[in-house]
This record gives sequence, structure tokens and C-alpha cells, in this order.
Amino acid sequence: MYYTSTRNKDLRVTASEAITKGISDEGGLFVPCEIPKLTRDDIDALIPLSYKERAKKILSLYLTDFTGEEIDYCVEGAYRDGKFESGNPAPVVNLCDHTNILQLFWGPTCAFKDMALQLLPYLLTTASKKAAPDKEIVILVATSGDTGKAALEGFKDVPGTRILVFYPNQGVSAMQKLQMQTQEGKNVGVCAIEGNFDDAQTGVKKIFTDKRIADKLAENGMMFSSANSINWGRLVPQVVYYCSAYCDMVSQGEIFLGETMDVVVPTGNFGNILAAYYAKQMGIPIRRLVCASNQNNVLTDFLTTGTYDRNRDFYLTTSPSMDILISSNLERLLFHLSGENDEEIRGYMSALTDCGKYTVSDAILTAIKEDFIAGYATEEEDAQTIKSTFDKGYLTDTHTAIALAVHEKTTDGTPTVVASTASAYKFPKAVLTAINGVTPEMDELDMADELCNLTATHIPIPLRGLRDREIRFSSVSKVADMEQCVYDMLGI
Ligand SMILES: *Cc1c(COP(=O)(O)O)cnc(C)c1O
Repeated sequence: MYYTSTRNKDLRVTASEAITKGISDEGGLFVPCEIPKLTRDDIDALIPLSYKERAKKILSLYLTDFTGEEIDYCVEGAYRDGKFESGNPAPVVNLCDHTNILQLFWGPTCAFKDMALQLLPYLLTTASKKAAPDKEIVILVATSGDTGKAALEGFKDVPGTRILVFYPNQGVSAMQKLQMQTQEGKNVGVCAIEGNFDDAQTGVKKIFTDKRIADKLAENGMMFSSANSINWGRLVPQVVYYCSAYCDMVSQGEIFLGETMDVVVPTGNFGNILAAYYAKQMGIPIRRLVCASNQNNVLTDFLTTGTYDRNRDFYLTTSPSMDILISSNLERLLFHLSGENDEEIRGYMSALTDCGKYTVSDAILTAIKEDFIAGYATEEEDAQTIKSTFDKGYLTDTHTAIALAVHEKTTDGTPTVVASTASAYKFPKAVLTAINGVTPEMDELDMADELCNLTATHIPIPLRGLRDREIRFSSVSKVADMEQCVYDMLGI
């Protein structure tokens, strides 16, 4: 099976090449030329399996140039016992009636990014041995908070790799910042930038596609790769948990085999919901994909009108990992829905760069409406949902609450899986304020203790003891200086 680029459909690369490079030379994203299909019998056969076994089956359909042993090694390493506090990396629990929560936050950094970023270093080092032997892989990450930490944890001390993370100085929670500033590992670097997430992401994309910078790395035996969700190796592990969630819905008696379910995803860069779209295309009976946004509701407008317009106010919300106005992964969806029309995609993407805006064809908008609906929730609705969900006996974070709020507005009672993307303990200030109605006068780490007392839940192991760790990274840089930052951190 081969991969092509959203901006050059004549290109053919293997899975290893797609994962090693991260992004195509002309700036397009790698997508599978053909989406593998699961029959009803295939799905039936997945149901009795463990998460790891399900993952091996799904991954082997996409990573056809990996051997069975390589896939076993990657999956066993990524999801080995003890890494995910819950045991099962992605359990489905019933919240009430037909609403079920897919808990994706039990990994080492307490956000769903771990699901992919624990696996990606294995995929990448295995792939690069085939596609670029003897090169040191330099991972550059722009993060809205959770990706950075998850990538740092995934890649720390992995031989043959270095990892550099940029985050918006004012755009992450105190807990997220502390998690990154105290990161351990010999091959890691972290830098705050003056700007928002889109500035960081645009800066990283620029560095990636600059031939001059690539040449300089090559002279030093290095090459860039990406751990952002533009990398196919980030997306494919996410396809697994939607397939797995369907199996769990069947085995837990929420639906019968063949019955459809809805999926609601709190969305930022469009990676997580795109993985659900791929699961649907594979044959997992998903009726509709519900794209939930916070006040930065550029996707709600796009999916309902067909016009993507990033020229609007940018809000810092209590769900910072969704504070995004340029959703990179949308490009992949548009490529598939345009009938793989790379010329059309290049047109949309250059309009986005030049005017911050594009309108898709009626054909694409019609296709979108067959699979997706969209909604958003305000800060007040988010807080109310945290409170009302807490009153039902369930503690939820600010991002999942956006999804729950949109679910409440849009549901017609169809059995639903709501993707829960973070632990409430990553955002103790906003969660505690929502439950109490007032913000307590204390620092954010004390708030985590307070949340613990109030809710009779416990602080996840990875978030304990943060206060006592050494701050290793505290520099703040201008966007214009990111290139120099990279050289400084690499020592070249
Ligand atoms: C990254 C993130 C999101 C958004 O996911 P995308 O794949 O970017 O759409 C939502 N919630 C949390 C907690 C996240 O970390």
C-alpha cells in the first residue's frame, strides 16, 4: 500500500517514507492512496481481542512495509503494561443513557496525545531504519500544550532522535507549562515563543520546508521529522482507538454488531476527528461525526457553510488545546472529498495562506454534510457542563466538556461515543472554578489537591510531585528567532 501527497497526487511513497519525512516536499500531507476495508467478519474477529492485539491488526493494514515482528515490537513497547494507569489504554465507560465516554487520557502525560505519541517513536525509528539509515532524526513540535509534553515523553532518550518543542508562552495552562519546563531526558529541548499556537505552528512549518535549513542539518548528519498530527504516524494510532471503541460498544452491550454509533470529538487541529473519519471509511459503522469546537469556532462555520475564514478574533479559552484557527488536518479530508484533486487543494491552501480564507466546491460541502455535523460551546456552556456532569458523579476536563455540551445540543438519542481527551487534573483551575462557581485563591498545584478533596478522585501519578521537580527550560523567544533557537538547541 502506498501514500500520496495532498498537493501532488502523482507521488507514491511507502508508509516508512511518509512517517520518516512527516510532510511532503511541496508542503502537502501524506494520505493513503486507498483506505483499507474491514468487513463485518473482520470487526467481529476484533471484538474478543485486547487493545494491543486490535492495534496490531489495524496497523498492519496501513503499514504494509513493516514486518509482523516490527509491528509487534512497536505495539508491545508503546502500550506495555504499566504505561497506562487504567490498564486498558482506551476504555469506554457509560456516562448515562446512550452517552459513552472513550477515555483517552490514562497515558504518561494525561492527554489523548499519548495514544499516538507513545507509539510514534517506535514507528519512526523502525521506519527511518528503512527510509533514511544513519541519519539522526530531529523532531520539531509546535504545541498548544498537550502535544509537546506527550512528544517529549515519547521521544526522551530514544537513541538516534532529538526533540525540540515550541509552545505559546501565554497559551498553555500552568500545569502544562510546568510539565514541559521540568522535562527530563538528554535529547530534549523546550522553548516558549511570544505568539499564539498558530504562530508557533506556522514557524515550525516554515522551518520544515526551508531547503537551506534542511541542507544545514544534512551537513550535520541530521534530518527533520514531525511529531505534529500532520505526520501520518500520529494519525494511524488514533484510527485504532475508534475501531477499538466500536468493538467495546458491542461487547459492552451498548449496540449490536452492525448497528451504527455517533462519535463526538472535541476538535482543534482536526487530527482526532479525521482518525474517526478514516475508521468510518474503513467500514466501522459510524453514523455521524460530530465536530465540537470552543469559542474559536472556525470549523463550526466551515463545516456548515463551506467557507473557511481564519480572519477573526482569536480567543484564549479554558480549553487551550483547541485554541486553533488553522486546522492543518482538514487538508487531508478535502483531498479525499475532492476526489483526490490536488490542483483544487493547492488552490484552497494558497488562498488560505494569501487571504486567510477559501470556499470549497458545492460537491465537497455536500460530501461533508453526509458525514459531519458541527457545533460549538461557549465558555459558560463549558463550565455549566463540567458542573452538571460532576453532579451526575463524573469528573470531566474542559475539552471533553466542550464535546459533551455540543453532544447535548445535537443528540437524537443514537448511541454515542464522546472522545475524552484529557484528565481534569491538567486544568484544575478551570475545572474547580466551574464546580465551585468561584476561583479559589491558591496556586494551580494546590488547586489539584483541592479538586482531589472535593471529588474523591485521585491525582494521576504523572502529575504528582511536579512542584519538586527542577525547572530545566525557561527561555522565551520571538517567532522570528525560532530558526536560531533550533541551531542553538542542536549545537550546530
Ligand atoms: C490536542 C487536543 C485536542 C484537539 O485535538 P485535534 O486532534 O488537534 O483536533 C482536544 N483536546 C485535548 C485535551 C488536546 O490535547
